[in-house]
Amino acid sequence: MDMNRYSVIPDKRPREIVLLQGRGCFWRRCAFCDYYHDAQPDDDAAFALNSRVLSQVTGQYGELSVINSGSVFEFDPRTLDLIHTVCLDRGISTLRFESHWRFRDRIPQLRRDFAPITLKMKVGIETFDFDLRENVWHKGIPERDPRRIAEGFDEANLLVGVTGQTRASMERDVDLALSLFERFSVNVMCANTTPVQPDPQVIDEFMAHVYPRIVDDPRVDVLIENTDFGVGA
Ligand code: SF4
Repeated sequence: MDMNRYSVIPDKRPREIVLLQGRGCFWRRCAFCDYYHDAQPDDDAAFALNSRVLSQVTGQYGELSVINSGSVFEFDPRTLDLIHTVCLDRGISTLRFESHWRFRDRIPQLRRDFAPITLKMKVGIETFDFDLRENVWHKGIPERDPRRIAEGFDEANLLVGVTGQTRASMERDVDLALSLFERFSVNVMCANTTPVQPDPQVIDEFMAHVYPRIVDDPRVDVLIENTDFGVGA
């Protein structure tokens, strides 16, 4: 599959973004996800691709987001070292990684490993509705308390536009994310190869009642298409 793996996000918080390859998501059970197929278990092949992508980073905004269809802890060690080196060489002081909630205990060491670069750690929560998140979407976060879910993370991903969500549940998710995180992204469900498909009525509810509240908020990125950050396919 052709993938664009480098882009610049000029809006709100300007930054560069790269989509690299890790060894593969350890979880692979989220009902709405098919992008974990973008993985490379061969470390040499992954490092070769990741080196090519990272060579495009200029450091123009001093901020870089690194995503990998999984968690930062699934990168091979050479890729992690190269990310660190690229940041130091190109004056990048803020680096954003994503991680599954289950790796939260490893985050403090990662922050130390990357010092003096500031890490912003982003967790995929999708929704604070426990029943929907765990019994339908199988996200793998067996914690009900939003504050405890957020502990150790700076940013989050939410998912909207799926059957089972309501205006009230999406508003609650957004309100909680605003109170618990520095920044977050809202991903509108897009058609993919999983049985979970976009629900047009729920998306209409989101666009009419929730989107206007957050579209201009500098803390929130709304992705109507999952390629809105300029990477992916
Ligand atoms: S959403 Fe993230 S954690 Fe869940 S299966 Fe996909 S890559 Fe893995």
